[in-house]
Amino acid sequence: MARNSPARPSSARELLFGDLWEFDPAPESAPAHIEPSYGLFINGRFVAAKSRRRFDSISPRNGAKLAEISEANAADVDAAYQAADKAFKSWSKIPGRDRSKFLFRIARLLQDRAREFAVAETLDGGKPIRESRDFDLPMAAAHFFYHAGWADKLDHVAPGRRLAPLGVIGQVIPWNFPLLMLAWKIAPALATGNTVVIKPAETTSITALKFASILQDAGLPPGVVNIVTGGAETGALVVNHPLAAKIAFTGSTDVGKIIQHSLAGTGKKLSLELGGKAANIVFEDAPLDQAVEGVINGIFFNQGHVCCAGSRLLVQEGIAAAFTARLKRRMATLRVGDPLDKNTDVGAINSLAQLKKIQELVQSGIDDGTEMHQHACQLPKKGFYFPPTLFSGVSMSQRIASEEIFGPVLSILTFRTPEEAIEKANNTRFGLSAGVWTDKGSRILMMASRLKAGVVWANTYQKFDPASPFGGYKESGFGREGGKHGLLEYSQLV
Ligand code: NAD
Repeated sequence: MARNSPARPSSARELLFGDLWEFDPAPESAPAHIEPSYGLFINGRFVAAKSRRRFDSISPRNGAKLAEISEANAADVDAAYQAADKAFKSWSKIPGRDRSKFLFRIARLLQDRAREFAVAETLDGGKPIRESRDFDLPMAAAHFFYHAGWADKLDHVAPGRRLAPLGVIGQVIPWNFPLLMLAWKIAPALATGNTVVIKPAETTSITALKFASILQDAGLPPGVVNIVTGGAETGALVVNHPLAAKIAFTGSTDVGKIIQHSLAGTGKKLSLELGGKAANIVFEDAPLDQAVEGVINGIFFNQGHVCCAGSRLLVQEGIAAAFTARLKRRMATLRVGDPLDKNTDVGAINSLAQLKKIQELVQSGIDDGTEMHQHACQLPKKGFYFPPTLFSGVSMSQRIASEEIFGPVLSILTFRTPEEAIEKANNTRFGLSAGVWTDKGSRILMMASRLKAGVVWANTYQKFDPASPFGGYKESGFGREGGKHGLLEYSQLV
């Protein structure tokens, strides 16, 4: 249906979807095979937690209980480390080509069961099935394939030097890309000959626990990967266990700081992948249609639960009004709702706690008197949802411009010159990612060299590859994941 919209001159016609063009529901129907309750995966098999404590995993899609998850205590975490330490003695000695075979097997098994895992990921975490199916699962498999390729070539990473494994690696991951973060952590650790104790986030443990069955099917020796579940307390036990040679953490900056303090002086190696508040910078000469897509994808992908989300749009003053109008029109076509529906673009907020945090920060923007625009969509009655939101005319002193919201909320700021754009983009305690949209190649190179961000995308956004190292500056953390750099995080040069 074509009609005029208020954001456009009356002469211009456009296609509007929203309530005018309703899609029939298209729910993904593949079974997720979720067990009613899960133990801990230690030494190659599921065991009951010594703690005898359990908690519920809730689906943010509708608030329903999905499964009971075990909460590991000190004795459980110790059992996982003992198993990993024992396994290290043989795993670290087997030839790289043999480790490689295990990683290839894991990658292929993940591909075989991709649909089932995608449904489980969406039920457990709330992200649209389109994303878990087309992004999380293929990327997780790609990380295992990529590192399978490295396992027998480690002698070529640093000519004249050898990469030796570190020992048992303790890993703690967040809830925004549960399986993918697990792959980012486990694949390089195993490829370099280490063994692992990993803890998924408490709201999204299910795909990690399902992954244990892939390890069993791949015939991975017992103890090489151990999966313990629980919340912050269990995380602290994983981080502080004396057998850990290295800790790899992905999560919030606040928790990253606690971990850095507690590891000081222990000699353990540490990598921290923390929060972000990325600037997505659009110049007047940018390809505007593509830039609109990049900005929308940059902030609304995975409901904005993305460390490198383009949550601050810096747009050049001359096009600010027109560009904002285009963004609003594009927002009106986003389909928000049931994440299991294949038509959905923006799914559920991961947890009630996260929904409250988003609401609180959005309220601060409203209280500051900033102009807010929200997608006028019908949200499902059950579950945790928040409409795509943008604030225009934001200033750097506001909380919505400086704090990580981790939700579908975009703050729009303007600039006049490239210098001002760089100044504003770098005026943050974070430094994880940035985007630059311009027709001018020399400006892209200049901006990329002066933006203090671990990743700078040019005329695109949210593009990832296992071969490309990812990581931050400043309070976004240190260390790199992926590529050759990522291998060095899990080894010592001898
Ligand atoms: P979080 O820090 O609250 O939790 C992350 C993990 O740490 C969870 O498994 C949690 O149980 C555990 N944990 C909590 N307290 C702990 C403690 N004291 N000691 C040890 N472990 C503890 O973060 P979150 O809310 O799950 O995830 C969102 C954050 O993760 C955002 O800030 C986001 O930017 C960040 N993140 C960063 C990257 C990156 O690559 N830089 C990627 C994804 C997410």
